[in-house]
Amino acid sequence: MPVTRNLIVVLGDQLDLEAAAFDGFDAKHDLVWMAEAQEESTHVGSSKQRIALFLSAMRHFAQALRKAKRPLLYHRLDDTGPAAALNSLGSKLHADLLELAPSRVIMTHAGDWRVTQQLTSVAKAVGVPLEVREDRHFFTTVGDFEAHAKGRKSLRLEYFYRELRQRHHVLMDGDEPEQGQWNFDADNRETFGAKGPGELPKRAFFAPDAVTKEVVELVHARFAKHPGKLDSFGWPVNRAQALEALQRFVDERLALFGRYEDAMWPGEPWLYHSHLSSAMNLKLLSAREVVQAAEHAYRAGLVPLQSAEGFIRQILGWREYVRGIYWTQMPGYMERNALNAQEHLPEFFWTGRTDMACLRDAVTQTLEHGYAHHIQRLMVTGLFTLLLGVQPQLVHAWYLSVYVDAVEWVELPNTLGMSQYGDGGLMASKPYVATGKYIQRMGGPCKGCAYDPALREGERACPFTTLYWDFLLRHESLLAKNARMALQVKNVARMTEAQKQAVTLRAEAIRCGKVGSQL
Ligand SMILES: Cc1cc2nc3c(=O)[nH]c(=O)nc-3n(C[C@H](O)[C@H](O)[C@H](O)COP(=O)(O)OP(=O)(O)OC[C@H]3O[C@@H](n4cnc5c(N)ncnc54)[C@H](O)[C@@H]3O)c2cc1C
Ligand code: SF4
Repeated sequence: MPVTRNLIVVLGDQLDLEAAAFDGFDAKHDLVWMAEAQEESTHVGSSKQRIALFLSAMRHFAQALRKAKRPLLYHRLDDTGPAAALNSLGSKLHADLLELAPSRVIMTHAGDWRVTQQLTSVAKAVGVPLEVREDRHFFTTVGDFEAHAKGRKSLRLEYFYRELRQRHHVLMDGDEPEQGQWNFDADNRETFGAKGPGELPKRAFFAPDAVTKEVVELVHARFAKHPGKLDSFGWPVNRAQALEALQRFVDERLALFGRYEDAMWPGEPWLYHSHLSSAMNLKLLSAREVVQAAEHAYRAGLVPLQSAEGFIRQILGWREYVRGIYWTQMPGYMERNALNAQEHLPEFFWTGRTDMACLRDAVTQTLEHGYAHHIQRLMVTGLFTLLLGVQPQLVHAWYLSVYVDAVEWVELPNTLGMSQYGDGGLMASKPYVATGKYIQRMGGPCKGCAYDPALREGERACPFTTLYWDFLLRHESLLAKNARMALQVKNVARMTEAQKQAVTLRAEAIRCGKVGSQL
């Protein structure tokens, strides 16, 4: 396959025909390069749902490229021949660069540090210039984030988000925020009450086509021991499906998104969330069009401002913010462990077999669908590992492997920073800690659980509640320095020595699996 000019490298999370890497593409002289590499599914042992989604979406994108008449060299995992033995993206690219000898390699900014390093060193070793172009999918560049962060003592989402609302004129009324308010968080904490959510809109489900079916077979054959199941696979795998999923969300769920943003309910994984993270992270949808769709629905009077703002804040705010954190803090960020947490990840994170009902629900649905909503990730699985004291790098590996939307730039700051406080407060102003009563209040399955969230000690004490007090005891001196934790830490002083000892002993029993262990 002759290539005289540019080789355009497209990674599995860059499936956008309009990406910057294609600017100036000339089908007569340039060639697109894509590869399914074993290492991308095995370096953290990805779940079956995640592997299937990436492979299916990549193969659908290959079809779109061929339709657009852009010449393509595509390596499949099930190819035969010498290239098939090369496991990593880097080794495959290395071999092709030697053979094709392009004048230049062009790619869009990658989504993780490891891959960036790998491809950069390959291009250097072969002596081909590598041009990395800005990712236009995002509202901001890493440089924008650096400029915002410069000179600030602490980084907080709120100021960054307000700047972006103004700069991109999103939900603005002249120079003021729409309806005079930047933030509707206080209105967005409702629960479903004792009656539950009632009938919920159906998930936008895309039945596997021939390409996806082939991928599912491949995953079963090649990654049989990887976590999770594929029976319910129905994620959008191409642009048309992603657009349909966006429309369905806006029509059916967005109006109640804000109100129930933090709520949970047993056996209901989808609620009023959008389920669009994987489509956005693969770049099947642009963040801009998603934000525009939400704002348009508000302006058309179809959804309340609290919902449109709550949703837009997640994308224009959190999503851009965590990307800035990742790229300005890597590679050292990955190693941080401010609380010196050293425990292993409990085995039931890979099976769901535990008598703690909230964890059983969240882990089982994660393994089944590759999805859990934000409050489950933060306040069930993430809270448990934080309170237990699991090493943040092990928690990171779990989140990166199980979720369909997991790409390191977004997963790592959320896990290590926001959820595990491993960065010592760079992402979150205080550790997100709570007792089991928080989970109960937000609609968790405490009624059907072996434990009681109100109890801290004794046989029926909820492990979250015991571990919360144990966490405060273990980190009392560090937390006392944090003004936002002062009230919580003060309560420790009211405990008797006997109470403290009972908490420590039960926390030990939880850590060694005698409580909350596998069913
Ligand atoms: C420990 C932990 C790990 C996480 N790992 C990931 C991950 O690997 N990939 C990922 O995309 N999100 C991650 N998140 C953020 C968030 O939980 C998911 O984006 C969300 O649950 C995806 O479901 P949804 O599309 O239905 O989101 P919705 O609730 O509908 O939210 C709308 C969109 O906002 C964006 N968003 C919401 N919260 C965040 C956030 N905190 N950071 C960045 N973007 C956000 C997502 O693109 C999401 O699709 C993580 C959060 C935590 C606490
Ligand atoms: S009692 Fe505790 S462990 Fe059980 S569901 Fe409630 S919060 Fe979870």
